[in-house]
Amino acid sequence: MPEPARRKFFVEYEYRHNRFVACSDSACHSCCSDEWCWLHSSTAYRAEESDIRTVKKVCVVVLAMVLLMAIGLAGFLRWAPTFGAAGTGTRPARIVASDQFNGEVFRNLGPTAVSTDGAVDPDRSTLDFFFPPPGKRPAEPLPADAFAARTLVDGTAVWFGHSTFLLRTAGRAVLVDPVFFGASPVPFTVKAFAMTHQPSIDDLPPIDAVLISHDHYDHLDHKAVIALDSKVGQFLVPLGVGAHLQRWGIPAEKIVELDWYEHHDMEETRFTLTPARHFSGRGLTNRNSTLWGGWAIRSPEHNIFYSGDSGYFDEFAEIGRQLGPFDIAFMENGAYDPLWSEIHMTPEDSVRASVALGAAAFFPVHWAKFDLAYHVWDEPIRRAAKAAAERGVTVATPLIGEVFQLSNPPQRDWWSGVAN
Ligand SMILES: [Zn+2]
Ligand SMILES: [Zn+2]
Repeated sequence: MPEPARRKFFVEYEYRHNRFVACSDSACHSCCSDEWCWLHSSTAYRAEESDIRTVKKVCVVVLAMVLLMAIGLAGFLRWAPTFGAAGTGTRPARIVASDQFNGEVFRNLGPTAVSTDGAVDPDRSTLDFFFPPPGKRPAEPLPADAFAARTLVDGTAVWFGHSTFLLRTAGRAVLVDPVFFGASPVPFTVKAFAMTHQPSIDDLPPIDAVLISHDHYDHLDHKAVIALDSKVGQFLVPLGVGAHLQRWGIPAEKIVELDWYEHHDMEETRFTLTPARHFSGRGLTNRNSTLWGGWAIRSPEHNIFYSGDSGYFDEFAEIGRQLGPFDIAFMENGAYDPLWSEIHMTPEDSVRASVALGAAAFFPVHWAKFDLAYHVWDEPIRRAAKAAAERGVTVATPLIGEVFQLSNPPQRDWWSGVAN
């Protein structure tokens, strides 16, 4: 018979697992209680002891695996270059002096909720995340032209999907929010839509200026920045974003950091960072440690606006007054949701903002490449086209990869023919 301490242990084990071994020895009742009498069975005792050892081994293996995964995740978050650097790392004096910095983080012009309380769509189920409705992604490659750099002459531009576009004005090639590899820190997630011609950095001409709107992954692609470095003259970025670029090996002298309404001139072309209503962050602990914004690009020939990511706000009218009117406005128009109504625009908001800016043409961007929200892939352009038609706004909708005139952008319905 096991010693008393082990007997007690096994009795507790059996109780917890609701398992009991019947006693076949009627005589045992004279020496122990009904509860404990099963311990007289030496066969059952050995079997249970073996079970306990197996359970212990499984627990040790599971704990070791959880510990290893936690260490791996912590190391990934700490050292993976894609997360960039702390925004205050290299130019703290300029950040601290910014009106947009409250001593700890950057802030919007007015109160702005990243997640709007109580705004969840009642028709949505959490299952939608795992089993998305048909049409979340196109069922076939998007039609796209093969871009040829020699066709990008002064006064032309080309869109590569989402918010990546390239233009040439006054002899300067300007590349905006270049994302060519991925829009997530985790490899193989947020996969780009297939296109009949996939845009490539190898096809780009030498670039005078790369403009970055903010440090979110669908606008600042660290692999693209590294691959572009050798063909780029300068990187123009909001305050704090330069620290990310420097961590990735971009020389400090190639980086120009700006606050809202500050500008940088390249001869006769002026680049002005404009306010946006959004937020920033690439890791778990650096939210709003870098600034976000849009861009106004004024050359003797053209005046161009790009919204970056932004919720609708009255400042669009002020930007129009100070820096407009614009020949064309590249406006965020996709990845919206009732939950994010203060940091992203609906298509109707985007059209309204384009009007407030005084733009002659409205170019919807932030769609047609990544599936980042709950709506189907072509809903943004269908809603934007309808809203623009109702307000008499010209919508620029060239093919992805098609070089077009900034002063006379094409209006093609290329999305209706794509299978969902
Ligand atoms: Zn963003
Ligand atoms: Zn975005």
